[in-house]
Amino acid sequence: MEFSYRCSLCARSYDITPELTLCPTCSAQQQPDQPLHGVLDVELVGEVGADFSVFDLLPVEREFFPPAPVGNTPLWEPRNVRASLGFPQLYIKDDGSNPTASFKDRASYLVSAFARKFSINEITLASTGNAGSSMAGIGAAAGQQITLFLPESAPIAKLIQALQYGAKVYRVAGNYDLAYDISLDYSRRKGGMNRNTAYNPMTIEGKKSVALELFQQLGRAPDTLFVSVGDGCILSGVYKGFRDLKQLGLIADVPKIIGVQAEGSDALCRALQTGEFTPRPAATVADSISVDVPRNGLHALQQLKTFNGELMTVSDDEIIAAQVRLSASTGLFTEPAGAAAFAGFIKAAPDLDRNALTVVLTTGNGLKDSRSAQLGIHLPEELIGSIDDIL
Ligand SMILES: *Cc1c(COP(=O)(O)O)cnc(C)c1O
Repeated sequence: MEFSYRCSLCARSYDITPELTLCPTCSAQQQPDQPLHGVLDVELVGEVGADFSVFDLLPVEREFFPPAPVGNTPLWEPRNVRASLGFPQLYIKDDGSNPTASFKDRASYLVSAFARKFSINEITLASTGNAGSSMAGIGAAAGQQITLFLPESAPIAKLIQALQYGAKVYRVAGNYDLAYDISLDYSRRKGGMNRNTAYNPMTIEGKKSVALELFQQLGRAPDTLFVSVGDGCILSGVYKGFRDLKQLGLIADVPKIIGVQAEGSDALCRALQTGEFTPRPAATVADSISVDVPRNGLHALQQLKTFNGELMTVSDDEIIAAQVRLSASTGLFTEPAGAAAFAGFIKAAPDLDRNALTVVLTTGNGLKDSRSAQLGIHLPEELIGSIDDIL
């Protein structure tokens, strides 16, 4: 298999090198408070059979990947939800079961291998939580130094997780955008690799592995897939995987993908309607999809339009209700950003084909944000001293 970069805007091709992040021509047009211009896609040339290994389709050789069991996440067959909503072919792909308990490991895994291939030992990033704790954990497996810039608002469990893995963590007095700018300045001055989402092309490319796995687990592509959307990198990664499968002749069509945003962080939905990105401060209980400016917004919208994808929003109440419903009816406890995809499915269910092969992607473990998870339950307040107190 041969790999190269291609700009998602101007279609210029480039060799893959760690120094190149965005298309030099298109990124020169970058405006403040706008999604990244000139995000690079990885293009592949070659052929494989249906029994391919995911590594065959990744642009770094297998020997460079760290010893961590990323991906191959379980595909649940949620009997109770299937019955109660009447969807006999519903599946849930649980990416909260990755090593650091979020989908972000798919990106960190490839970034780590890419850095190792070029003998780069420090990886830097800004993160609202999961990307940072993921890179810290995968970096620990690889023996790489991880430097992380976290905004004030990151949930404490994600901060603790990154510190447990031995990352150097700086807490930023401000939001993700400030953390992002500082992390780029840091990389410019100190070198190393920067893993910022969409800025590093390997983040989107790494995330495609979920689509390849779904194809292998199901023996075909799903008909419909629900994905929660913040910066839009998972969305683009999922599309990339199916695009590769189509190019390789293994599937006939790219599935219908429905991106789900929180009402309080709906920049992509608004841009799909109006044609432009207007920054608005985000506020939602689902911290992992709370973004003011979706970094990968242009690329994600381009994919959605090309493949007739859809976008929808769900309220925080719907997210919290969906989180509890999923936990209590399946045993799968996902964080609010993961529950958002399930909330989207519940909301859209009346308009969907009930016999379609439908997959909901849950992207993070529920214990990552225990404070939000408390919103949907009642903690018992009274203490009991004997069985007589309750019988
Ligand atoms: C990052 C993240 C998302 C959203 O991914 P984007 O690429 O930002 O759209 C969804 N769920 C979880 C748990 C995440 O960590």
